[in-house]
Amino acid sequence: MITSQDIKAAALRMGADIVGIGSIDRWKDAPIQMDPRQIMPNAKSVIALGFRVLRGSLRGVEEGTFFSNYSSMGYGGITYLYMPMTVINLSKMIEDAGFEAVPYGHQSDWRAIDNLGYMKPEFSRPVAPGKAAPDVMVNLRIAGYLCGLGEIGYSKMLLTPEFGPRQRIGIIITELELEPDPIMEPGTLCNRCMACVRECPGGCIPADKTVKANINGREIEWADVDMVKCDITFGGAEVCKEGEVGDYVKGRTDRKPSSISPFYHKNKFLYNSGQAVCGAKGCTRACMVSLEKRGVLKNKFENPFRQKKLWSVDWSQPPFDNGYVAPYEGLDSVNSRVKHDDSKTD
Ligand code: SF4
Ligand code: SF4
Repeated sequence: MITSQDIKAAALRMGADIVGIGSIDRWKDAPIQMDPRQIMPNAKSVIALGFRVLRGSLRGVEEGTFFSNYSSMGYGGITYLYMPMTVINLSKMIEDAGFEAVPYGHQSDWRAIDNLGYMKPEFSRPVAPGKAAPDVMVNLRIAGYLCGLGEIGYSKMLLTPEFGPRQRIGIIITELELEPDPIMEPGTLCNRCMACVRECPGGCIPADKTVKANINGREIEWADVDMVKCDITFGGAEVCKEGEVGDYVKGRTDRKPSSISPFYHKNKFLYNSGQAVCGAKGCTRACMVSLEKRGVLKNKFENPFRQKKLWSVDWSQPPFDNGYVAPYEGLDSVNSRVKHDDSKTD
């Protein structure tokens, strides 16, 4: 019989960084649109796999020089490539043992509810009474908590003892009955230091307003994060003041680049995502810096992450001249700007 130990050893071998298991009864209070039993009524267990966001993926945003790496290697590459491969391979192992397994990554675009948890109008309908409207969206951070990987921090992020807020979660819902892991006591990692609140560039994480949710019979509290504001800030945008006309986001004249974006226009997506100009400045970077300073994370580094004062862009000023000279500047070359029609290159 396949055991929890077998599953964990295989998951780590296949590329997950952390693994936890929750029995399906822990989802007894889940809203119908987020309930894994709506996907697999016979489910006995949920396996949560955590994939670290490399601290180095955040380095370029911290320096203000290399933003695409967090979006691609720290988000899209994990979410749309590495994680699906691992949850699919682990599911194969479970199905080889004769138990059905649902590999579950990020299929958010098809979910019936929006970012705020409301039903999307005229999106889908239940196929029978008592069923959720497709697609169900199992909350992956909550799954991480219910599988014993970590706790929900004040910022609403899943914090783990290994990486703090620095991971993405994939799950497997299965008929296989497995020994569950203990759930982490809230307050184990998050000490309400409020670094996430202070450093969120959009002021999206309020210090004085929280929401409470009943999760597996326990009341869990986190900040009432302004998701609409976060969505705008995350992409490096700011709402224009009255009378201003912006062109940062295509088709939106009410958006201009904010002090955390050095880009004149919002760039195109990478791996179906790429809005991470903010680099999760408050909810991930500030939180990680705080947890690392307290020495409570297992993933230790020789040097502190934050080594200099944080940068910001003053859009009212002309850009800095960094002295860059293009390689062919001044040369008698076919690639010299004077002979070259730049509009034909990418
Ligand atoms: S920054 Fe501090 S308050 Fe915010 S989630 Fe992290 S540990 Fe909790
Ligand atoms: S992603 Fe950025 S804007 Fe959103 S809560 Fe985190 S720090 Fe704030």
